[in-house]
Amino acid sequence: MGAPPMSITAVRGVSLSVCRKADIIAAMKRQAGKRQSPNRSRQAFGRARKVLVGGVNSPVRSFLAVGGDPVFIASARGSCITDLDGRTYVDYVGGYGPAILGHAYPAAVKAVQQAARRGFCYGAPTLAETELAEMIVAAYPSIRKLRFVSSGTEAAMSAIRLARGFTGRCKIIKCRGGYHGHADCLLASAGSGAATLGLPASPGVTPGATRDTMLVDYNDLAGAAKAFKAARGDLAAVIVEPVAGNMGVVPPEAGYLQGLRELCTRHGALLIFDEVMTGFRVAYGGAQRFYGVRPDLTTLGKIIGGGLPVGAFGGPVEIMKNLAPEGPVYQAGTLSGNPLAMAAGLAALRALRGRGVYARLEKMSAYLEAGLKEAAAAAGLAGKLTFNRVASMLTCFFAPPPVRDYRSATAANARAYAVFFHAMLEEGIFLAPSQYEAMFVSAAHRQRDIDRTIDAAGRAFALAARHM
Ligand SMILES: *Cc1c(COP(=O)(O)O)cnc(C)c1O
Repeated sequence: MGAPPMSITAVRGVSLSVCRKADIIAAMKRQAGKRQSPNRSRQAFGRARKVLVGGVNSPVRSFLAVGGDPVFIASARGSCITDLDGRTYVDYVGGYGPAILGHAYPAAVKAVQQAARRGFCYGAPTLAETELAEMIVAAYPSIRKLRFVSSGTEAAMSAIRLARGFTGRCKIIKCRGGYHGHADCLLASAGSGAATLGLPASPGVTPGATRDTMLVDYNDLAGAAKAFKAARGDLAAVIVEPVAGNMGVVPPEAGYLQGLRELCTRHGALLIFDEVMTGFRVAYGGAQRFYGVRPDLTTLGKIIGGGLPVGAFGGPVEIMKNLAPEGPVYQAGTLSGNPLAMAAGLAALRALRGRGVYARLEKMSAYLEAGLKEAAAAAGLAGKLTFNRVASMLTCFFAPPPVRDYRSATAANARAYAVFFHAMLEEGIFLAPSQYEAMFVSAAHRQRDIDRTIDAAGRAFALAARHM
């Protein structure tokens, strides 16, 4: 494929402008040897564990699912992320979604620096909030008014409250394996309960908090119809990731989202698309644009903050006007619409609005998917893995196809993924330490990054194949 000359930045102290495959492998072997020695990430983790629970501030960052200690990050730029030892990796975690333009995107860095000089936080409105809201309203025909918050969790939690306040109903439907942040009523998972019974997924969540949460399987329209019936007119909303991304990537099957739309309309319940991950990711107008289905409420996060803490929820005026101060449904936030976060979000959306960004993302992502599939087949894994991709979100499940819901996703081979993950890390490719996450391609990923990834995956798949 005429791969351009590459310099292996993964290998500290080795920078070869033109290198042959044999050189790369030899260098990676040297690097693998180097990692046996005590490293700064390990020291940092030991120190962190004394004062931070599990040494991390979000459990997904721990290496619990794959074993070993987390890599501590010193900096990131473009498609790459660098650890405390100066090792640079091609990054597919992308901050778990926000970094669609790559890290330290220059226009965003500049915007945040300029905003910082004007002060961090005023407790009074700013023009930047209106500007970012205008950009979101222009991109999402379903959103006429919105409210900024500081995280996706807050967005989903507040959207549910608003849906309940607006409809005067109690029950909500969510999908097994769907993630909408950690608000109590949304921390209900499958358990072994009946399809219509939400059981708390965490100690500390009371049965009362999830009593009105009904669980259904993703991509199961018949199951959803049954749950609607069981709710007996008390259903406030269905909340769904239009492309499931938190059980690994699981695309909606043809007619699924339309079916949910029809059920909601027929029963007078609100359809909430949780687009915290998919918003401005699968298309500038999100999954609702991509699939042509219009929700009543939309939650956003991740990309709209450009990597700073932002969430948002919005919808038509007649629903949104029920929110305080226009209406009785309470919601508030000291840091909501924070000036630095708004500046970063504005810079990100302005860049994404440019011509050709999503076409390029699609091209690179399709190239990555095709290359990984080829590498897997060469390692004897044809038919044993499932590659699910929507736009620049991709998951390689170590499970045979199809992966179409939580059950088929969780049938994946955890051991094989752990081996694959660590092999990729050694090769200088940074993936999420769990296969139930998406790989995110950014606009900063170049063909040489992807080629390097595919090359590394060939060897990593071969190692993982022994555990399949
Ligand atoms: C990440 C995510 C959330 C939670 O967002 P936080 O900012 O982590 O609170 C909610 N919903 C979806 C779909 C997400 O991907």
